[in-house]
Amino acid sequence: MYPAIIEKLIQDFKKLPGIGEKTAERLVLTITNWNDDDLKAFGSHLSDLKSSIKFCKTCGLLTDMDTCAICQNENRDQKTIMVVADSKDVFAIEQTNTFFGTYHVLHGLVDFSKGIEPKDLNIDALTSRIEKSNELIIATNGTVEGELTAQYLKSLYKEKKVNITRLGYGLPVGAELKYADQLTLIKAVENRQKY
Ligand SMILES: [Zn+2]
Repeated sequence: MYPAIIEKLIQDFKKLPGIGEKTAERLVLTITNWNDDDLKAFGSHLSDLKSSIKFCKTCGLLTDMDTCAICQNENRDQKTIMVVADSKDVFAIEQTNTFFGTYHVLHGLVDFSKGIEPKDLNIDALTSRIEKSNELIIATNGTVEGELTAQYLKSLYKEKKVNITRLGYGLPVGAELKYADQLTLIKAVENRQKY
């Protein structure tokens, strides 16, 4: 029923989380009414996206610099590292404005059912940061995969001097960090426990 290009865009939008057929149609029809400048800008932002972003060489966070702003910030406690699965988790915790250490992004969790092993994760870079750190806060999800990954890291670093803690989950079992509300996240960080 729609012209082919509109139909293609609807299919693109439907790949986004939470976007169904009706919403995709509405979004695309809205964009169709944009002026030329806005449309061109949108298109070039999309095509520049992949080439403009990279991962921080220290912590693995999504950034547009070699070293992200958090790793560069001398006002943050560079000796406290919070380990998370994904950059989205960092953005969720940053929004709570209550954590002033640094992060380490694993880019996934150990998941044997999908063939994801520790060697596939951003763990070597973490190991090289451990010697200079006081505290490692393991903030992986409360899921089976999050727990497996936490246990792997705990055993990997058990001979190291670093103090290992785990988020005190006010989070329900199976909860994912990025979907938690702010108060729950703040409490989980405050109530972290020796692991
Ligand atoms: Zn960084």
